[in-house]
Amino acid sequence: MVQLVEDYIPLNKYSRSGLKLKAKRGIVLHYTASPGASAKNISKYFASLANQKSSDGDKGRYASAHFSVDRTTIYYSLPDDELAYHCGSKTYTKQALQLLGSYPNNSTVGIEMCIEKDGSIHEDTFNQVVDLAVYLIEQRGFPEVFFTHKEVVGWKECPLPWIKHPEEYERFKQKVHQRLYPMQDQAVTEDEEDMDKVLAYAEWAWNELDKYIGDAYNDQIIHEWTWVEKVRKRKLTYGELLMLKVLIDERRRKGIQGQGQSS
Ligand SMILES: [Zn+2]
Repeated sequence: MVQLVEDYIPLNKYSRSGLKLKAKRGIVLHYTASPGASAKNISKYFASLANQKSSDGDKGRYASAHFSVDRTTIYYSLPDDELAYHCGSKTYTKQALQLLGSYPNNSTVGIEMCIEKDGSIHEDTFNQVVDLAVYLIEQRGFPEVFFTHKEVVGWKECPLPWIKHPEEYERFKQKVHQRLYPMQDQAVTEDEEDMDKVLAYAEWAWNELDKYIGDAYNDQIIHEWTWVEKVRKRKLTYGELLMLKVLIDERRRKGIQGQGQSS
């Protein structure tokens, strides 16, 4: 399970307003842009912003993120249902406005990824961010909707390592998805000619599938009881499972979009 070091920053106007999120609509990924800085350093930095003296003509620096992640530690700087100042901008991308609303800070959780001295994201850091994302989705009520900072605002080159290597961002999303839906890959890797064969699943795997299809039926994502029955009778084929997965994931994704458009 994911270990968090709770280090809440004090309430202050620059990094922790204490306002609650209006909704939980997405997870926004950042990088610290400070080579070698630890998660602790970043959390302390957010806390230090409280001590700014505002002077005329200088509005001060507003910044914070809920989580800062390095190779070994995840710092938790403010509750995930409070607003942080991590992706504010004068303008936003169409996609962000559609899925996250008119002020994305109000509906997202922000994660800062620490970088190594050479500017890269260490594999251990990468894996910790995967763990954290799975935790936020499975246990904290966030949808499986990811944005890079750049995808929210359009102009900021953040997180730079993933802008330079978009395949790493894809790998991240795939890894999270595999962790959330471990059944899917077993079906996808089957040869095409095996598509008509009944799933050669162990009992526990059938039970997992039973829950997955049952939830989709209960949530009215699928409407045909036949599918639930086929799973219960252990008669579902690889081809049918693949088709159902595509359908269910697609409809769930659209469901999230529907929420995004309100407000
Ligand atoms: Zn950022």
